[in-house]
Amino acid sequence: MPPHTSAAQQVSLIPVLSDNYVFVLHGDPGGAAAVVDPAVAAPVIAWLEARDLHLAAILHTHHHHDHIGGTPDLLRRWPGAAVIACAADRARIPFQTQGVAGGDRFTLLGREVQVLAVPGHTAHHIAYYLPGAVGLDELFCGDTLFAGGCGRLFEGTPAQMHNSLQQLAALPEATRVWCAHEYTEANLRWAAAEEPGLKAVGDRLGQVQQQRATGHPTIPSSIGLEKATNLFLQAANGDQLRQRRGSKDLWRG
Ligand SMILES: [Zn+2]
Repeated sequence: MPPHTSAAQQVSLIPVLSDNYVFVLHGDPGGAAAVVDPAVAAPVIAWLEARDLHLAAILHTHHHHDHIGGTPDLLRRWPGAAVIACAADRARIPFQTQGVAGGDRFTLLGREVQVLAVPGHTAHHIAYYLPGAVGLDELFCGDTLFAGGCGRLFEGTPAQMHNSLQQLAALPEATRVWCAHEYTEANLRWAAAEEPGLKAVGDRLGQVQQQRATGHPTIPSSIGLEKATNLFLQAANGDQLRQRRGSKDLWRG
């Protein structure tokens, strides 16, 4: 691919189901695209066909159905697409053609992709980090880091989730964070109740409520914004993360 191709790649989001986002890495119409965590297929196929894009790859962050459910139908439409997922989770993520693990690097549509092992929400959850020019680094983190929150601990320990979040916090602050669910407003309402004195949280909650009132997504976030406002990313250790996760799990605000 010519060197300018990667600069032309952009990320778009497709809202599906009640609060999921499917992400598309793509260039100009007529070219190739990759999708991350296709919960369903029909809206993704329609979106790609409307732009004359063909699907080259499907990336999965973890095995939950609202992240992989659309894969069989996408493969029926584009049988040659690569399916990239955690090799250790092959039993729960079928159709893999390229199994990966934390520390792996590969090239996707001309972009370098680094695989990060981020267990906690599930045992084999991975994230994909795409370094780019300043402000164009992208992170697809599935259900590990949410805007203002983090995933529930279904299979991992608080210490594992703490380590995973700190790995993400070490990425460049301008990195755009593509969280797989629109949970931001509820996360920040909880955070504002949990730590009422934090001005950065209150300010962000106000902005997010405006965005949601006008129907706009609050994704992407950025690593810098999460470091300033996310109580889970700010947790000092596994114990504090356990405390905050427990509080959020019980919160019915
Ligand atoms: Zn999940």
